[in-house]
Amino acid sequence: MGPGFGVRLVVTDLDHTLIENPSQIPAAGEALRRLADRGLVTVLASSKTFAEMEDLQRQAGLPPQPFIFENGGGIGWPLGQGPLGQGPLSQWPAQTAGEAAGAPALVQGAYGAIAAAGDLTKLGAILAELASGGGFRFRRFDELPLETISTLTGLDPRLAALARQRLTSLPLLWDDSSEQLARMRQALAGRGLAAVSGGRFVHVGPPCDKATALTRVRQWLGGQAALGGMLACGDSDNDRGLLEAADIALVFSCGQRPPLPLSRPCTVVPAGGPGPWLAAVEAALESSQGGATA
Ligand SMILES: [Mg+2]
Repeated sequence: MGPGFGVRLVVTDLDHTLIENPSQIPAAGEALRRLADRGLVTVLASSKTFAEMEDLQRQAGLPPQPFIFENGGGIGWPLGQGPLGQGPLSQWPAQTAGEAAGAPALVQGAYGAIAAAGDLTKLGAILAELASGGGFRFRRFDELPLETISTLTGLDPRLAALARQRLTSLPLLWDDSSEQLARMRQALAGRGLAAVSGGRFVHVGPPCDKATALTRVRQWLGGQAALGGMLACGDSDNDRGLLEAADIALVFSCGQRPPLPLSRPCTVVPAGGPGPWLAAVEAALESSQGGATA
C-alpha cells in the first residue's frame, strides 16, 4: 500500500465519537466535507435507524452517500446509484437473501434502505411467544409512547419517532432479572437470533455487525474506497470489528470509563464531538504520511 497506508476511506461511529449530541450535527457535516475536499470517502456507521440516519445526513448538509444503520443490520444507499441504480440488486456481488429481494425495504428522502437481514414481523411473533410462554417481562421500544422514549433517551419527540422506525432489529426495555435475560438469550440463540445489551436496552435481531456491512459497502463503492487504506473511529464494543479491521484506529473515550481495549495499536482520543474528531483524524492522516516518508 502507498504512503501513509494510502487512506481513502474514513468510517466513523456517531454517538460519543463524531457527535456528543444532536446540536453538533451541522458541525459534523462541516468536518466530513473537509475530508471530502481532501478526496476521502466517509461512511457513517451507527446503531441509529435508517430514518434517523437519513435525517442526520440531511441536517448535516451532506451529499448522498452510503451509510450503515442499526449496527450493520442494513445499508442506506442513494437512490438511482450503485445497487439501487439500474438492474436488480442481485446483480451486485455478495448479496444475502434479504438484499436479493431487489427493491429497497424503505425509501426516505434521497435514500433506499437495503436490509441485510431481519424480518420484524417474524421477530415480533417470536418475542410475543417468549413473553407469554417463557414469562419474560420486557417492553418493545417501537411500541413505547414517544414521551417515554424521549424521557429514556433524551431525544426530542421528532427524533424519538424516527428512532422507533425499526427495520432489522428491535430494542427491548428489559423489565426482568439478569437471570431471566440469560435464559432469554439462550432461547433467542436457539432461533438464530442475538441479544446485545446496550445501556438500558437489549437489542434483539439477527447476528450482524458494522464491519460486515462495511465490507459490503466497500465492494459496492469499488475503486479507491474499496482498495485503499481505511481509518476507523469508534468508542464502543459495537465498533470493535471496524476498529480491528482498519489500517488506522482512533478510539474515543470521554473519560467516564476506560477506553475500549483493542488487540492492536490505536490512538486514544480523550473527547468526542466534531472538533476533537476532525483534529484527531487530520493528525492521524498527517502522522501516517509523515511516518511513511521518514
Ligand atoms: Mg458510539
